[in-house]
Amino acid sequence: MVAVYVFNNQGQLVGPVESPRVEVSDADWRNRLTPDQYHVLRRKGTEPAFCGTLLDNKLHGVYHCTGCGLPLFASNAKFNSGTGWPSFFQPVAAENIAEHADRSHGMTRVEILCARCDGHLGHVFEDGPRPTGRRYCLNSEALNFTPQESLARLADPAAEPLVAPAAPDPAPGSIAGRPIAQAVLAGGCFWCTEAVFEQLAGVVDVESGYTGGDSATANYRQVCNGDTRHAEAIRITYDPQRIRFDQLLDVFFDAHDPTQLNRQGADVGTQYRSAIFFADAAQKQTAEAKIAELTAAGAHVRPIVTTLEPLGPFYRAEEYHQNYARNNPGQPYIQFQAVPKVCKIREKHAAWVMPGDAGRPAP
Ligand SMILES: [Zn+2]
Repeated sequence: MVAVYVFNNQGQLVGPVESPRVEVSDADWRNRLTPDQYHVLRRKGTEPAFCGTLLDNKLHGVYHCTGCGLPLFASNAKFNSGTGWPSFFQPVAAENIAEHADRSHGMTRVEILCARCDGHLGHVFEDGPRPTGRRYCLNSEALNFTPQESLARLADPAAEPLVAPAAPDPAPGSIAGRPIAQAVLAGGCFWCTEAVFEQLAGVVDVESGYTGGDSATANYRQVCNGDTRHAEAIRITYDPQRIRFDQLLDVFFDAHDPTQLNRQGADVGTQYRSAIFFADAAQKQTAEAKIAELTAAGAHVRPIVTTLEPLGPFYRAEEYHQNYARNNPGQPYIQFQAVPKVCKIREKHAAWVMPGDAGRPAP
C-alpha cells in the first residue's frame, strides 16, 4: 500500500489515503501502454524536446499518470521553462511523487517516479521559479490531462471513505401504490445480515448502513474505530402484508447470537452490537414481547443483550458495501460467516424464503 492523494467523486483532492501499489508484469505494461508511453514509463526513456503533446497545453486541469491514473501535477503549477518539456514547480502532493538519485549518462540527477506504479516521469532540478525553486521536468508521454470541470471522472476507490458525510435518506412511503414498512436492525457485520434478509419473500430491499451516531462519522473508516456510537445496521424495506415485523425479528434472532455483548464472533466493538432500532411505539412493543418470549422459552442459555434504541437517521453505507455477499460470493469471510447464516435461515424458515432466490450467495 502507498499513502497518496486522490480525487473523490466530487472532484476534490483528498488524502493521504491508502491505495494499493500498481504492480503489473512487463508483458501487461506492453499491452496497456503505447510503445512511446512504455519507452518512457517502464524503460526510463526521454521523449525528444519540443515534441510532447502537453508542452503547450494551457487548459486548467490536472495531469495524471498514464500508467495508473494517479494525479501528479495541476495546471496552476505549470510554467514555461523553455526546455521543451512540460515543467511544473510543484506536484499536487509530495506523497504522489517518488524521487531517486539517478547517476546514468555521467550525470547526477534526481529521477521522479509515480509513487503508485513506479513509472518513470522525468527529473526534478533545483533551478525552478518561486515559490519552490524546483523544476519538475516531465515527459508528455507519462501524463494524461483531465480538464478542471471533469475531475470527478478521476474518482479513485481509495477516496471513498473520505467523501463528504452522507445525508440521511428519507423513508419511502409506498411501492407501486402499496404501503411499505421499514425495520432497522443490527446484528454484527452488515454484509452477513443483509444477505440473510435479502432472501425473504416480502422483503423489497435491504440496505447496509450506519445508525446510532452522527453524520460526520457515518463512514466505514470511522465506524471501524468503534467509538462513533454507530452500529453496522441494515434497513429492511418490506411489504407488511407479506411478512410481519415480528417475523423479521424471528429471523434476526436466529441469524446472529443476541447474547454476545458488543461482538459477533471475531468482530468485536460496539459497532457490532446486537440492536433493534425501533421507529415507533408499536415496533418497540413487538421487540420487547419477542425478547420476553425467547427468554421465557429458554431459547438461549445466556441472557439476551440486544438493545432497543430509538431510530435516528440511517446513513446508507458506501456503495461497495451494498449487496456485498452477492457481489463477492468467493470471499472467505462471506463463505465462512455469511453463507452459514443464510443457509440456516433458509432451512429454519423455509416458508418465508423466496423460492429459487437467484441472488443468494452460493454455499
Ligand atoms: Zn502511476
